[in-house]
Amino acid sequence: MAKEGLTRNDLGRETFIDRVWRWKEEYGSRIILQLKRLGASCDWSRTRFTLDSGLSQAVREVFVRLYEEGYIYRGDYIINWCPRCQTALSDIEVEHHTLNGHLYYIKYPLKLSTPHSPLPTLSVATTRPETMLGDTAVAINPNDGRFKALNSQVAILPILNRELPIIEDDFVDPEFGTGIVKVTPAHDPNDFEMGKRHYLQEINILNPDGTMNANAGPYENLDRFECRKRLLGDLEEGGYLEKTEDYLLSVGHCYRCQTIVEPYLSKQWFVAMKELAKPAIEAVREGRVRFIPNTWERTYFEWMENVKDWCISRQIWWGHRIPAWHCRNCGRINVSRKEVQVCECGSSNVDQDPDVLDTWFSSALWPFSTMGWPEATLDLKTFYPTSVLSTGFDIIYFWVARMIIMGLKFMNEVPFKEVYIHGLIRDADGQKMSKSRGNIIDPLVVINQYGADSLRFTLAILTLQGRDILLSEERISGYHHFCNKLWNAARFILMNIEGYLPKEDPSKSEPQLCDRWILSRLNQVIKSVTNNLERCNFSQAAQNLYEFIWHEYCDWYLELTKLQLYGSNESEKRATQERLIATFETILSLLHPFMPFITEELWSQLPGRKEESILMASNWPKVSESSIDRESIREMELIKEVVYHIRNIRGEMKVPPDKQPKALIKVPEGETLTLLEVHRGYITFLGRISELVCGPSITKPPSSAAAVIQEMELYLPLEGMIDIDRERERLEKELNEVEEEIKRTDLKLSNEDFRAKARIEVFEREKRKKDELNTKRLRLLENLRELAVG
Ligand SMILES: [Zn+2]
Ligand SMILES: [Zn+2]
Repeated sequence: MAKEGLTRNDLGRETFIDRVWRWKEEYGSRIILQLKRLGASCDWSRTRFTLDSGLSQAVREVFVRLYEEGYIYRGDYIINWCPRCQTALSDIEVEHHTLNGHLYYIKYPLKLSTPHSPLPTLSVATTRPETMLGDTAVAINPNDGRFKALNSQVAILPILNRELPIIEDDFVDPEFGTGIVKVTPAHDPNDFEMGKRHYLQEINILNPDGTMNANAGPYENLDRFECRKRLLGDLEEGGYLEKTEDYLLSVGHCYRCQTIVEPYLSKQWFVAMKELAKPAIEAVREGRVRFIPNTWERTYFEWMENVKDWCISRQIWWGHRIPAWHCRNCGRINVSRKEVQVCECGSSNVDQDPDVLDTWFSSALWPFSTMGWPEATLDLKTFYPTSVLSTGFDIIYFWVARMIIMGLKFMNEVPFKEVYIHGLIRDADGQKMSKSRGNIIDPLVVINQYGADSLRFTLAILTLQGRDILLSEERISGYHHFCNKLWNAARFILMNIEGYLPKEDPSKSEPQLCDRWILSRLNQVIKSVTNNLERCNFSQAAQNLYEFIWHEYCDWYLELTKLQLYGSNESEKRATQERLIATFETILSLLHPFMPFITEELWSQLPGRKEESILMASNWPKVSESSIDRESIREMELIKEVVYHIRNIRGEMKVPPDKQPKALIKVPEGETLTLLEVHRGYITFLGRISELVCGPSITKPPSSAAAVIQEMELYLPLEGMIDIDRERERLEKELNEVEEEIKRTDLKLSNEDFRAKARIEVFEREKRKKDELNTKRLRLLENLRELAVG
């Protein structure tokens, strides 16, 4: 509209509202579309809008009931007024510009009611001298020792000769001007508050068009700036103007026409909040509503315990119009659920109040107004109270608190049990995203490039409770790889179950170590992910899944199943296929809340799917405690460690992939040896080893690389595999490092301070560490010797 050079007044109320509805149709559906692309799973048949007719009925009902019970009243309030547009402006519609102005020091005579008064006059400083015509007091700070003698005296307003009480108020800044200020409750928001505290009179000196009214005495009908000029002349002439200083001041301007805005007293509608807030405070105190993280409860209490009456009227056209009709005949205000055409006095000369309700008024009713209240509908019975509200901290006051208040007042029950306060999304450096910084990440652009699942998973894993989300495209691209990893895992599984038909009776083949291990780990992951989700630890839940799927399921389990899938044992192959499907299904279920699109698609490709079944409607995985075999986890960890060291040596020594060295492990008789013997297949396969020899009497072969793993010593003979000199260098480097570490530990252990202060366990741990380092040192020395012999 601004582009067309139109104001709402040019259009008129009805045309304007028409246009807003059209805008709403277009952008409202765009927002829904964005939510759908993000994968928000809502019942879209139930989308509601605060101006729907059902909701309008609820708004009227609440307004009338609160009015009838005396909670809603009319009162004076300071608002921002544009004298040119002749409309009230909300705070965000006022633009502040710094202007070169003046600070005027004006002398106010004292009434001198006591003969002991030390001063004939006092001096106040102001940037808007014309407002003095509306002064109703003079104020000092109670802690300002300079003006003690003024307390409870009376000053005289120059020109109008009004008597002004001298009051004490903490709000007065002793540093501003003389430390004495004039108080104009009708034309300054801070003075208005001060006036309320001290029961001061409010004198309005302005007409709506910015000219002076009768209260301005000799200046009546002058424009406000002309009045300022004349008044200053008169003050000068009367000897009241002490001095004038240049002064930089921030002045509010109308965002539409750039006219200087006036703080203006006007009749507004209010809700008395004190009584209504009490049960809402109790509800949170008693834990019937919990904030997550709970530090926000302090913010909530702070606000609720100092709650002010809520100004609910707005001088705009878009919104719920206030259901009050003013009678021009008798002046009565008729508040009604239905359109009023005839006043109680019989006159039909009635107008509906032009104001609309603050948008938060209808929002406060959302949890029950959307369910058909005030009717006792089935929806209301089924869906009220709700469970979780997720929102930003910036609207705890505006929205959350008021929903709790209204829910308790009209439903006798809290509207939700948990309030999850999410962080704000910032860029990687913690900067707020803004157009001018050029650091905005557009969700739709990112979704087009990486998919909604990558974005969702990134947001989830970065969502640490109580902290902002530092988002970057690199992170999203990084978790895009995770989506690919999952996709490739599915490809591997689908490829290896080709021709597989689910049968009634599961295959009888005994699970192998890797099967028992993955099932144990999977159940532990179900447990941790479920717990974390229940506690709204989204980041930890996502982290659990990421680590498990990538670094256990894909890296180890899928590799090991190859031994069973490509083996000659048919029933084992079949059992492995069954387990692959079952474990992958569970993984998809766990991932579904984070990645709904890819998981739904992959799930539909698994065998045995019925047309109409969807993952989204399937049950959340349950933990099977009996499937958690801790022994299998310990055993697999040991095998993984051996393989890890073999791979490590291969990597560091640059053993070419096609070479398959032999591996020897020196290990005492016992469980470990048995384990290695039984699962030598895993180790040779994963470590690409030609042969594994283990036993207590193994000696280090010449020219072999070595690693120490728990009670084992691992040797890889490198003769014919690599460059021996380089291995010697590596060992020397490690020896150096170990010797440095021993020195550091020695120093620590002999430090008096450490000996005196460290707890016994810490001290013991350091001693143990030193012993281990010494053992390692001796082995390294020995290995070096071995290599030298070669
Ligand atoms: Zn204006
Ligand atoms: Zn009437």
